[in-house]
Amino acid sequence: MPRSRRPGLVVFSDLDGTLLDHETYGFEAARPALEALRARRIPLVLASSKTAAEIAPLRARLGFSGCPAIVENGAGLLPGGAMPSGGGEVYARLRHALETVPARLRAGFSGFGDWDAAEVARRTGLDPDTAALARLRQFSEPGLWTGPGADLPAFEAALRERGLAARRGGRFLTLSFGGTKADRMAEIRRACAGTEDALPMTLALGDAPNDIEMIEAADFGVIVANPAHEPLAELQGEALGRIRRTRAIGPAGWNEAVLAILTEAAPAP
Ligand SMILES: [Mg+2]
Repeated sequence: MPRSRRPGLVVFSDLDGTLLDHETYGFEAARPALEALRARRIPLVLASSKTAAEIAPLRARLGFSGCPAIVENGAGLLPGGAMPSGGGEVYARLRHALETVPARLRAGFSGFGDWDAAEVARRTGLDPDTAALARLRQFSEPGLWTGPGADLPAFEAALRERGLAARRGGRFLTLSFGGTKADRMAEIRRACAGTEDALPMTLALGDAPNDIEMIEAADFGVIVANPAHEPLAELQGEALGRIRRTRAIGPAGWNEAVLAILTEAAPAP
């Protein structure tokens, strides 16, 4: 983000099922709103469970390579303008900590680092190329608990002793040293402002439980309709109008909501 010009509004968006169509991963329907953000020089921060290696090419196609991105569900950041390097010190530390868990418990967990790209593809449903990028982890380890259910609390306790948190997502149990999309949103918001009283407004869009904290923490929150899963339970800000739901699905809903909020919060110069 150029420091010379401090944004009055920063947009944070989930990808799959939010800005990207759940089925096709396309974002055609969101083009008018993406153009409007660019015209107003409003930063768009992508916030996803994807790795930096997966997000970087998408960020470039969307035309927001200069903006930071929240990767691996908030476990880390891809700075604006940076290309992902893969691997890295945090992930090495995480895997090392995992290997120090007592063998009986360690044997019950297998993660992306234990699988080759073909197995990641099989277990995620991703195509082989995307699976290879999803395996280039820097900050977190998604995997499956295949040990006895009764041992899972002991595994989680052993992780906690090592500073690791385990978070259940849709399909995977993901290990990290902590950090949510909302934590990173707060961090980026502070970084955009020179001083506390210059904090930009925030708009956050998402479709799933792992987006709730971000949607609730933002000045404007949007729940994008995704009929592929159960709708989210009503959030507190909805009654007050701070959080709204789209009727249109995925990128079409994203487009409508962003254009409406821009009209309210950041009219064209
Ligand atoms: Mg999503």
